[in-house]
Amino acid sequence: MLSITNPSNGTVIAELPEDTHETVHAKYKGARVAQAAWAVTPLRRRVGAIERFRAGIVQHLDHLAAVLTSEVGKPIKQSRNELNGLLGRIDFFLAETEKTLAPREVFNDGGMVETIHHEPLGVIANISAWNYPYFVGANVFVPALLAGNAVLYKPSEYATLTGLEIGKLLHASGIPQDVFAVLVGGGRVGIELLKEPVDGVFFTGSYGTGKRIAEAVAGRMIKLQLELGGKDPTYVCEDVDVAAAAASLADGAMYNTGQSCCSVERIYVHERIHDAFVDAFVKEVQGFKVGEPADESTYIGPLTRSQQVKLLSMHVADAVAKGAKLLAGGRPLDRPGGHWFEPTVLGNVNHDMAVMREESFGPIIGIQKVSGDDEALRLMNDTDYGLTAGVYTKDALRAQRLLSRVNAGSVYWNCCDRVSPRLPWSGLKHSGVGLTLSTFGIETFTRPKAWHLRSV
Ligand code: NAD
Repeated sequence: MLSITNPSNGTVIAELPEDTHETVHAKYKGARVAQAAWAVTPLRRRVGAIERFRAGIVQHLDHLAAVLTSEVGKPIKQSRNELNGLLGRIDFFLAETEKTLAPREVFNDGGMVETIHHEPLGVIANISAWNYPYFVGANVFVPALLAGNAVLYKPSEYATLTGLEIGKLLHASGIPQDVFAVLVGGGRVGIELLKEPVDGVFFTGSYGTGKRIAEAVAGRMIKLQLELGGKDPTYVCEDVDVAAAAASLADGAMYNTGQSCCSVERIYVHERIHDAFVDAFVKEVQGFKVGEPADESTYIGPLTRSQQVKLLSMHVADAVAKGAKLLAGGRPLDRPGGHWFEPTVLGNVNHDMAVMREESFGPIIGIQKVSGDDEALRLMNDTDYGLTAGVYTKDALRAQRLLSRVNAGSVYWNCCDRVSPRLPWSGLKHSGVGLTLSTFGIETFTRPKAWHLRSV
């Protein structure tokens, strides 16, 4: 049985039977049969089902937000923000899928015609993370279903109730039961799923698990996409409005209790404004309301996973032992049964410290003083990851010069912690391979087939 607990206080909120080798296999077999019919269902009808799914999200938004908050500990306002943000993503896919997947003539000399057709991959496995389960799930299953695939969806064990709600809504919207199947369980169920002969694996989660998944499917010649972690840097130049930059970056580091793949995880500040920036940043962080996730005024809630409390404590202890200055927070919060950590700011940090090298995935940030652009750029690129990176400056040319030399899938000028459905979402190095979102993130669920046609 899988116990679902409220991370705020440890209360068990549900006990669910986990999938087994047999049930995973049965779901795979059902999906394989159902996919053939789904692939030839007119696109208009597939679009209609996703339109009804969208309407269902709107209709049940408060309930869905409450479920998400209860199992993940996401502050309730941020749960509603995620669901409202999901609507924009669905709208993008609804608007772009037909155009993107339409057969395209690329050559015609009167005798020979060449066209590209998009065929679905088939049955795909979608193994997902808990921190933004609607976003990272829908980035895969919405375009995958629209393109005619069947989806075996394994939500994270920390967001299972949300995964089941998604399944219920999709089925009520007209997606056949076997075309979208939810698998309940943790890593063991993920391993079982990967034993099935699926046609593609789409994973969102940590680098460590991503590596294990890549090893598990090696040699099978199926499509593999891995959207993994980050250690996302931002450089603050000396020409900024210090208070505005500090407010924006404090939010970018601590929103969702710092548990976003694109959270700001490292800040480099030009020496000329360093002290003023640090003061403004600490003031912002000290103004964040820490509290019960169900409370409307809460900004920082519990950590979703208990083990993260230990990791953040280790990052603080390691940094302080190596000379960092603790500027705010730094300790677990004593709230019975829950997993809580004070919003934490570390100054005087350097790259010998784990807090500047390993993904922290919590409300903690290191701020390092730099002498100028060259040092900032070198430090931003001194990482195993490559998800996002940003620069705050009034100078557009300077931002362009820096951002074109930083190794990251997404780059930001005077903004951070942002994802757009219109732009491809991808990472370099340990941040992953492949992409979701944008029209490329629709095509990725298809196999382009080349047609060479001579009419006589
Ligand atoms: P995780 O790697 O612990 O788990 C992810 C999923 O993999 C879960 O569903 C889990 O049950 C499953 N799993 C675990 N072991 C498995 C195995 N051996 N085989 C198959 N499946 C297995 O990650 P998490 O804690 O759920 O998510 C947090 C991580 O995800 C962070 O590193 C974060 O940066 C990353 N993330 C990345 C993006 C992105 O778009 N790049 C988005 C959200 C989260």
